[in-house]
Amino acid sequence: MLHSPGDLRVEDVADPEGEVLVTVEAATACATDLKALRHGHLILGPYPARFGHETAGVRCDTGERVLVGDSVPCGGCHACAAGLTQLCTAMTWVLGGFAERIAAPAAALHLIPDGLEPAGAAMAEPLAAALHAVARANDELADAAILGGGTMGLMLARLLVLEGRDVTLCDRHPQRRAQAEALGARAVAQLGRHELVMEAVGRPASWRAAIEAARPGGTVVLVGGCPSGCDVTLPSGPLHYAELDVRGAFHHTPAEVDRALELLASGDVDWHGLAGDVVGLDDLHDALLRPTAGEARKLVVDPQL
Ligand SMILES: [Zn+2]
Ligand SMILES: [Zn+2]
Repeated sequence: MLHSPGDLRVEDVADPEGEVLVTVEAATACATDLKALRHGHLILGPYPARFGHETAGVRCDTGERVLVGDSVPCGGCHACAAGLTQLCTAMTWVLGGFAERIAAPAAALHLIPDGLEPAGAAMAEPLAAALHAVARANDELADAAILGGGTMGLMLARLLVLEGRDVTLCDRHPQRRAQAEALGARAVAQLGRHELVMEAVGRPASWRAAIEAARPGGTVVLVGGCPSGCDVTLPSGPLHYAELDVRGAFHHTPAEVDRALELLASGDVDWHGLAGDVVGLDDLHDALLRPTAGEARKLVVDPQL
């Protein structure tokens, strides 16, 4: 339970209330969880709050293996009516993967394909966001670059490679460049110019660098979210004279979560190369705060450990 920013406690509490109770087998962590631990997050419920939003487990009622989607769009708002369910303005967020059990609306649950391990299934959440970001980029742009070789950047690289694009990933860490090359991308420490640039860092300087790296007439997709309330100064020259398309990419749709599960189960996206240390709940706090260096890998929480 997160009692306030920085105050995470492992406690015995009653089962959460909700439509379906799920025994958690694996919950993977991402930068959003670290942000929530350090500073709180707008999608957290009132304190003490449960968190963890990339969750796979077993339904307590039917025994089915499920990925617990982290959100259920309302279906009735303007965005939902327009088919933009990722932008639902009345989203039900489903958090609490860092626990032995999580409660979720049935509509949040996705069946896990046979053979896909829980840690891999949990990664369907971020992979769905990567799929959504790639869907925001024009299909005809063959020359694609990604700025940032974290796990999101690596997922984007793999998806763009699967689409048959010519993919360059830029990161200053040699180990992450090696990971990108293993996924079929070219890897560089300094970004050149490209038709499509996807930003997967989430810092103002990096948003700017992505825009400066786009060829005239190109597209920039901003995947990494800057800290909330952050103002960004962007160069007007390329935006205006180079007719750049600059697009945000946020979250995913339920259909993209199912597609992500298929890609993970088929091995087209090899999650093993993105999985890091496996820890129990007692070690979660320290593991989240441990500085990361070298390869980009996701922390895997096994609450039954
Ligand atoms: Zn995440
Ligand atoms: Zn809605």
